[in-house]
Amino acid sequence: MNYYWGKKAFLEEIKKIKDMIEKETNPEKLAFLRSSLNSTRNLYFQTFEDISAPKNKLYNSLYDAAMTYSTYPEYYSLVSKFSDSLLDYQDKFSSIETLLDLRTNGNGDFNKIGDCFISKERNVSLVKLFYENLDDELNSYFQEIYKDRYSSIRFLSSNYEGKILDSNDYGIDYYINATKKNFIAVRNTQNIGANVCLTHECGHAIHNLMNPEKNYWDTDYLLWELPSIFMELLNLEENVGNFDEKIINVYKYSTLCRYYDFADVFSEQVNFIKYWKKFKYKYDKDTISKINEFYPKEIIDDLFQSGFSDSITYPVSYILALELLHIYKQDKKEALKILKKLMTMPDMFDSYTYANSILEFNNNAKTECEDILNKTEEVLRK
Ligand SMILES: [Zn+2]
Repeated sequence: MNYYWGKKAFLEEIKKIKDMIEKETNPEKLAFLRSSLNSTRNLYFQTFEDISAPKNKLYNSLYDAAMTYSTYPEYYSLVSKFSDSLLDYQDKFSSIETLLDLRTNGNGDFNKIGDCFISKERNVSLVKLFYENLDDELNSYFQEIYKDRYSSIRFLSSNYEGKILDSNDYGIDYYINATKKNFIAVRNTQNIGANVCLTHECGHAIHNLMNPEKNYWDTDYLLWELPSIFMELLNLEENVGNFDEKIINVYKYSTLCRYYDFADVFSEQVNFIKYWKKFKYKYDKDTISKINEFYPKEIIDDLFQSGFSDSITYPVSYILALELLHIYKQDKKEALKILKKLMTMPDMFDSYTYANSILEFNNNAKTECEDILNKTEEVLRK
């Protein structure tokens, strides 16, 4: 088995789309192919040429963020309710951090807790086993990722110099809409992180195959990360590799912290946008210098370093995934039925209203978090 893809595979896809464009006469299909060609070219540059957005783009992205925020105020209340509800557990968080410091000699490397080495081959076979045990329909989509895709999964060594993955990312899933081909990259850390990450990226790939009409770039803030984060949580829950309960619980905890951080950043971004609103979202020199009196430029840069859409997508999806996990623990079939409905949401719906109509947002996310915190503390005390 050779899981490798590189420049050549991408260029081949670009050529395929160009050929399709030459043969196509239907104007609607042509428009679709052209936009697909553009996004595939962007993927290519992003992946291999290492381009980063110029600094002066920041204020444009702030403007986009303000527009996004005013379009989706429900997301803000969902995320801020979640963040606020976790304030009840601050003592628990500190106690776990102290225990983790003790266990890792202060270096914070969770993988040192419990014995867990996973080779690339074992990683792939565990992910296969996970989807096989999960559900026939989802597994048949999962099998599709492998079929005819000699080059779909790429393991990146940790010294890859961040060309595909920046330092915050562990994995990435690229989907080329016109040719319906998926490319997955996972940082080869050979530990449980790589395994969870591959499960997550395969969740995206399955989502792409189940809902192929949905353009990769048509960012649906609420649902895009939901299936992959849910798979990530389920992988830890099902523990098909029979890993040490210590490593499983600590990883669940680190996942919680990761998404909780996103929620925090999101709240800060929203506060900033509320403040900026006073200046009617202007970004001329004068306004900027007034804003900088309260929010120095470095803070704004910092705040928006992870894009607004990232800081909204991840916590929202995590909260919903926890709700779904709660159902899963009582009724596996029902949870998977809801998940499939969410994965195949038709385009005409607003994602928040749609999700809210089939998955009630109760306080179960909080209950699940409490469970994670209690169990993590318990295993670390042992
Ligand atoms: Zn993802």
